[in-house]
Amino acid sequence: MSSVQDFFDEKIRLPSPPAIALKILQAVRKDENSFEELAGIISVDPALSIRILKIANSSLYGFSKPVDSLAKATALIGTEALKNIALSFVIVQDFQDVPQGGFDLNLFWRRAVTAAVAAEVLGRKIGCNGQDLFVSSLLQDIGVLIFFLSSPNEYTMVLDDKRLGARTLCDMEKEQFGHDHTEIGYYLLSSWMLPSSICGPIRAHHSAGLENEYPQEAKILSFADKISSMYHGLHSNSKFVDIHTGLADEWHCTSEEVDALIDSIGERAREVMELFSIDPGEIKPFTQIMQEANDELRRLNFSYEQIVLELKQAKLNAEQLATELKKANESLRELALRDGLTGLYNHRYFQEVLEAELSRASRYEHPLSLLFIDIDFFKKVNDTYGHPAGDSVLCAVSRLLVKLVRHSDIVARYGGEEFAVIMPETDSRGARVIAQRLRRGIGQEQIIYRENSISITISIGLATTGGGIPVMERKKLIESSDRALYRAKQNGRNRIEG
Ligand code: GH3
Ligand code: MG
Ligand code: MG
Repeated sequence: MSSVQDFFDEKIRLPSPPAIALKILQAVRKDENSFEELAGIISVDPALSIRILKIANSSLYGFSKPVDSLAKATALIGTEALKNIALSFVIVQDFQDVPQGGFDLNLFWRRAVTAAVAAEVLGRKIGCNGQDLFVSSLLQDIGVLIFFLSSPNEYTMVLDDKRLGARTLCDMEKEQFGHDHTEIGYYLLSSWMLPSSICGPIRAHHSAGLENEYPQEAKILSFADKISSMYHGLHSNSKFVDIHTGLADEWHCTSEEVDALIDSIGERAREVMELFSIDPGEIKPFTQIMQEANDELRRLNFSYEQIVLELKQAKLNAEQLATELKKANESLRELALRDGLTGLYNHRYFQEVLEAELSRASRYEHPLSLLFIDIDFFKKVNDTYGHPAGDSVLCAVSRLLVKLVRHSDIVARYGGEEFAVIMPETDSRGARVIAQRLRRGIGQEQIIYRENSISITISIGLATTGGGIPVMERKKLIESSDRALYRAKQNGRNRIEG
């Protein structure tokens, strides 16, 4: 990783402080506080003098008597603080003219001034009267501005990503630039030779919990930043809660004290912004923040309940869908197993079942019989009555077959006008009895098609396997039944062989 120095050398034209700021900076660096020197510098710029007096009279300090001269202001606030205020004015002024692009400079300074006021008020509240808190907090995010000025496109992308993701801005800056804005701000202000009491807390404001030279000040800056972003940013609610719990943990502030503190910061920030010529714009009133916090909480609760309801509904839907899918799959499989014309099991399923029944028969050493059935002179039916009549006869024969076999027997359309009946646990004698029943039953049936009454006969080939002897292979058993059927045809039809 390159040093911050390299980063500045390569990427940044380091902003130089304006002439008047340089003089104030020199005065700030001096150990002994010389009011005359400061008054001399400030009075060169009458607008600055007026602003300083205005701020001394503002609610930020809340003096009961009017402060009408720099000498009085110094007596009340102290030369040190006055220098810092002057410095703040000059720096903010200097950074007003930068090209803005996608960066909301006004919002940046609004946030900065609010953070400065917050640090000042918070410092006073908890008895940390660091003279530099105001300027330090004001400039805590100056690194952000520097990043933007040096690499506007890259930094706009970082800010956009930050809005989307859960990662901290510092982490994302480090990834993109090798440094985060606390380091950059620290480096810039150190190079301007601001005292470390101003730069130190800036460097530590995002790692306030870690060891550093200014633990108290860094924490104040961190809270000031949160309070400011609550007034100017999104998600006021979660920050509101953070600030309450944080200030209670850190400095034992009660909830009422925190509310009063936040409220007074908002009011004072608005006043101070005007002195800095910053449009206070959309700064939210405290009552609105409270309202938003409550609304947000309600919304979160509501959406939680909503989510639970929706989840329950989604679960129900999913279960219903699964049942329907199961049913659909079952009927789809059933469809795939059935012959379209007759509704009997088809050739493929016949082969599957026969295989399964053969291995069952083999396992239990039970007999299994197979009937092959062929309609006699079926061609004549088609020729005499037409193909649709033939179809109708095939359907009637199918119905009769199913009706006349036992429940455990499986009837399939083997192809054309040939049928097969698998008879598990049936020896050749039992099979012959059923075969006779089928032959007679079908032979006696008058099949009505339109005005025609059609009679047909069937020939049956029978084969049995298993039942004490090893079961035949499927192919062999089929061949055996087929040969028996051939014999039945040869021997005059309307008969059973096998
Ligand atoms: P055999 O007694 O020797 O079995 O004579 P057959 O006329 O029944 O036998 P053949 O194999 O000569 O003719 C079978 C006929 O069955 C021929 C064919 O057109 C008819 N057929 C096959 N499938 C269907 C069908 O789905 N619908 C109709 N209507 N006819 C079919
Ligand atoms: Mg036939
Ligand atoms: Mg045939």
